[in-house]
Amino acid sequence: MSFKKVQKIPEPAEIIEALPISEDVRKIKKARDREIAEIFTGESERFLMIVGPCSADNEESVISYISRLAEVQEKVKDRMMIVPRIYTNKPRTTGEGYKGMLHQPDPEKKPNLVEGILAIRKMHIRAIRESGMVCADEMLYPENYEYLEDLLGYIAVGARSVENQQHRLTVSGTYMPVGMKNPTSGDISIMLNAIRAAQGEHTFIFRGWEVNTDGNPLTHAIMRGAVDKFGKSIANYHYEDIIYLIEEYEKRKLKHPAIIVDTNHSNSDKQFAQQPRIAMEVVRNRQYDSRVRQYVKGLMVESYLEEGRQEIGENTFGKSITDPCLGWDATERMIYDLAELV
Ligand code: PEP
Ligand code: MN
Repeated sequence: MSFKKVQKIPEPAEIIEALPISEDVRKIKKARDREIAEIFTGESERFLMIVGPCSADNEESVISYISRLAEVQEKVKDRMMIVPRIYTNKPRTTGEGYKGMLHQPDPEKKPNLVEGILAIRKMHIRAIRESGMVCADEMLYPENYEYLEDLLGYIAVGARSVENQQHRLTVSGTYMPVGMKNPTSGDISIMLNAIRAAQGEHTFIFRGWEVNTDGNPLTHAIMRGAVDKFGKSIANYHYEDIIYLIEEYEKRKLKHPAIIVDTNHSNSDKQFAQQPRIAMEVVRNRQYDSRVRQYVKGLMVESYLEEGRQEIGENTFGKSITDPCLGWDATERMIYDLAELV
């Protein structure tokens, strides 16, 4: 065996007992959950903005960023619902590099997964308490779902995970809206199959139990662009791409069909500063075609206090150590511009 056991990971109940949530946080969560769900069921016309850093690498800079978002949310609340991205576990293309606060609560120190679980739970609780908003995270490791289940307002399954059965079945046991990203290949049918799987009922093994799930009717699509066989980015936020997805959706009987457009990753070719332009194009297409308006419920944007990215150790407060992000001023301007048009 080449596994060396380092430490036993506590059960979710033990972690929740160590870091319980207060009544205030529970109330905010319940109310925000309802409001976000209404966007996907069509009861609300508000536009969803899932916005924040590629990775949440430092609690202080993340909380400082989110407190700014909370002020913006207050100003646009009639038209928009903001869900901050607090991404605490990162899929890595080669397996190398920073894997998120779950692995390394301090990016400059060695991994410690028990400290990581506590750090991410503490950060998500603080974000809700101080901002009044619930946040989004990625489901990278399905077995970790219960550590944050009572805190997350939105979950995304990443491009590298969307074809995996354990992710799809685990999502079938969740209750908050879950976005399935298109795979890096761009194959739309893989994403739609993932949605179908997650909307269904299943019996499977989860954390040492045989479990039954009811299916999550709020599972939907996220368009994040793709790469071709030469590694070149192929955007999929344009009008024709959205219409193609709508037509494919219409061939299938899926519940609450919905689309979120990710403005970074292979849609921007990681040219982070292009995100406001991409966002604007999507919103204009919603104005142009009522079908696009009905299906496209929101955007996912990578943004942080400082624009761009840095290497670990450079230590600029609020600057991404994974994908390059839009800076604060451009983000604020973009949200206000979009709020005029949605
Ligand atoms: C991300 O959202 O930062 C991410 C890793 O996305 P994707 O799975 O689309 O690459
Ligand atoms: Mn990213």
